[in-house]
Amino acid sequence: MEEKGTISIHTENIFPIIKKFLYSDHEIFLRELVSNAVDASQKIKRLSSLGEFKGELGDIRVEVEFDEKKKTITIRDKGIGMSADEIKKYINQIAFSGATEFVEKFKDAKDANEIIGKFGLGFYSAFMVASKVEIHTKSYRDENEAAKWVCDGSTEFEITKGDKKERGTDIVLHINDDSKEFLDRSRLQGILDKYCKFLPVEIKFGTTEESVPDGEDKDGNPQYKTVTKDNIINNTKPLWSIAPSELKDEDYLKFYKELYPFSEDPLFWIHLNVDYPFNLTGILYFPKVKNDFEVQKNKIQLYSRQVFITDEVKDVVPEFLMLLHGVIDSPDIPLNVSRSFLQSDSNVKKINAHITKKVADKLNELFKKDRKSYEEKWDHIGIFVKYGMISEEKFHEKAKDFALLKNSENKFFTLEEYKKHVEPNQTDKDKNIVYIYSTDPGKQDAYIQTAKKRSYDVLTMDGVIDNHFINTLEQKLEKTSLKRVDADIIDKLIDKDEKQESVLSDTEKDKLKVVFEKAIDKKDVILNLDSLAPDELPVTVTMPEFMRRMKDMAAMGGGM
Ligand code: ADP
Ligand code: MG
Repeated sequence: MEEKGTISIHTENIFPIIKKFLYSDHEIFLRELVSNAVDASQKIKRLSSLGEFKGELGDIRVEVEFDEKKKTITIRDKGIGMSADEIKKYINQIAFSGATEFVEKFKDAKDANEIIGKFGLGFYSAFMVASKVEIHTKSYRDENEAAKWVCDGSTEFEITKGDKKERGTDIVLHINDDSKEFLDRSRLQGILDKYCKFLPVEIKFGTTEESVPDGEDKDGNPQYKTVTKDNIINNTKPLWSIAPSELKDEDYLKFYKELYPFSEDPLFWIHLNVDYPFNLTGILYFPKVKNDFEVQKNKIQLYSRQVFITDEVKDVVPEFLMLLHGVIDSPDIPLNVSRSFLQSDSNVKKINAHITKKVADKLNELFKKDRKSYEEKWDHIGIFVKYGMISEEKFHEKAKDFALLKNSENKFFTLEEYKKHVEPNQTDKDKNIVYIYSTDPGKQDAYIQTAKKRSYDVLTMDGVIDNHFINTLEQKLEKTSLKRVDADIIDKLIDKDEKQESVLSDTEKDKLKVVFEKAIDKKDVILNLDSLAPDELPVTVTMPEFMRRMKDMAAMGGGM
């Protein structure tokens, strides 16, 4: 049996085009070939368990090898293998039919991301790093002979009778001169760690040496010997693939450490497990975060059938949950993703909404089950909840029942509770409720104390996003306004009908005015000499609420 043929592609040589566009992602060739090998291994296992394959399964592991001298990388599996006809069908036609489409669609494209997103590279990605690719394969159907396929990166291929003795497939890549970086142990190990760490079939990459105890010498000193072990790079049963009912808290904490070796223990987690209407598993951890959340981004890893895709989970995970840690696995998310693709994908939208709902349900459950412990965690959880309430209508609807406000006495209230708490005493002459808050309890202590003397309650709003949260509350709460405790003298903060006289005489006021105006720049602030009680602050310098907020917005560039 010998056959030569031409892959049906109109463009003479499509590889340069592919290389050009996929330059930055060359390393994914290994992900693609190893996951094909894993697929083939899973298939033979399934056929065996169905009784359709009656032979010896043997040791179904995938091996990755490289040879620096020969400049080859080999990916070997003991999966179902392929007959010559199957190669023609699956490699020449299917794998390459995508390529035809690719050239048609994208020969004039400018954005590489767009291409990766719409075009599954699969087997074909081998040519990003190889000048020649060989397939040596033998199908699990015994009567089939081994087959060999060779293609040198042009559109010509060759199929001949092969000499492979065992069932399975070897893919041999002859690495091109531009891709020599991949003929390196630590580079390959790094790629395997990144993409293949949780694949469901064992992947062996060379061997490692390990020092193990070996008795004692005659003086009783412990002895060690070096043993050579297979270097298995993956954990075939990552936690998220196990049923939640089989897992204990320790398991979740241990897995967290496996993912983020240097992080503090998380506060709690959510195990996602959905099969309908889309397939989604995963574990989301709530980390301890306070105000330093800039550094924490991109901690959620996205997988598709245990193959790592990306840690850019924008769109899959709602914006306000980007600070969470953990993994999400969905076969319904395409392997080759790009941002523009994700945004428009309907499964991605559903998954996003589902995650929002699950997080809200979990928070609600924690709040209901043990309010005290929930309050203790609020400093960390609060950021997520407030951010969610600011940015997502649906989440706001749910979160308004378990969002907490903290006052200057460190007491926590739900929104409903707080309204009841201040309503009797903090309404102005138009019957609006006034919430008084402090953004810096240390500096604003004198104002807080004065407010307390009036039996007013002061909220602590010193978090990074509290400014935005205040705006959101004001929009959502009916007939309620929020005023910063130092925005005016206390009796003007809540504008009541009954007016009281200042304790200062007019001459005293005039004298004080002269003194203070010399000392301060009156441009943005107001000098208040209408102190109502001698034990209160006799004179205050304030900035009106609206002016202060304008300044804050300008300083933040207008938004988050
Ligand atoms: P996909 O994996 O998305 O189907 P690929 O381009 O990666 O696309 O592979 C095309 C097809 O080639 C696979 O569907 C499979 O039928 C076949 N194939 C690739 N690699 C192997 C392998 N190692 N063993 C058996 N079949 C394989
Ligand atoms: Mg594939």
